[in-house]
Amino acid sequence: MDIAFRPRPAVAAIEVLDLQVRLGGNPVLQGVRLRIEAGRMVALIGPNGSGKTTLLRCLLGLHRPDSGSIHLLDEGPPTPHLLRRVGYVPQRLPLDPSFLLTVREFLAIRRPRTAGWFWRPTRFVDDQLHEAVAEMDVTRLLDRPVAGLSGGQLQRVLICSSLLNDPELLLLDEPTAGVDTPGEEDFYGLIAEVHRRRHLTVVLVSHDLSMVYRHASRVYALNGVICCEGAPEEVMNAESLRQAYGIHFTPYHHHHHHHPGGAHGA
Ligand code: ADP
Repeated sequence: MDIAFRPRPAVAAIEVLDLQVRLGGNPVLQGVRLRIEAGRMVALIGPNGSGKTTLLRCLLGLHRPDSGSIHLLDEGPPTPHLLRRVGYVPQRLPLDPSFLLTVREFLAIRRPRTAGWFWRPTRFVDDQLHEAVAEMDVTRLLDRPVAGLSGGQLQRVLICSSLLNDPELLLLDEPTAGVDTPGEEDFYGLIAEVHRRRHLTVVLVSHDLSMVYRHASRVYALNGVICCEGAPEEVMNAESLRQAYGIHFTPYHHHHHHHPGGAHGA
């Protein structure tokens, strides 16, 4: 046997081993094992209460697991230094209407070079932000107050802001939670474009497989543990998924019209 023909194992963007988290005395994550290869666009799904947010918080170093390990970007646990290479897009940003920043200002404070935008000409700021702004198609929104944006516009601004630091791993928490149904197709199209162009790893966290399966190359179904993983079609039809989630989790095929409410509603 020629050892040179052995395929090299792909680098993992996320590697989680036996992660356990208890909250308020209840086991929430009960030994999660997860390996996501670098460069993929994958989905992490599970019904409400299955531990998605808790897992995300652990990945982002915001919650310390009771036991188990997390290894990010083939480097180590989620330290603040390593997390600079990770982008996060939250479900929603609770904004007070009195939040006065314009989109330009909101984006500028995210970058060290433009953080002092007060003293910089608009032109300088726009040059610095240009790439991510053009990519997420928010150029026309730069002068608008962030608080006045629609759900879809705000999501694009949040993704744009997460791209400013050139992340290698992008975590999106229920990315269409604040977007009305007609906007969802465009939204995933945009993320897929970003993924293709930047060759980064994208993890879409969603309660609804039907929303993400067209773009994810692999799906991980969470229910305290990863109860099922594979190609979207496989996971959708998996008996183990039906058993774990019960009959209410019946992802439907994604056509041009949408089933009102979906499996769990939004
Ligand atoms: P998901 O994001 O999939 O909806 P979460 O990770 O938010 O799931 O929650 C998983 C479970 O942990 C839920 O049953 C929730 O009620 C419980 N939980 C979340 N936060 C806390 C907390 N601070 N104290 C006690 N239980 C919690």
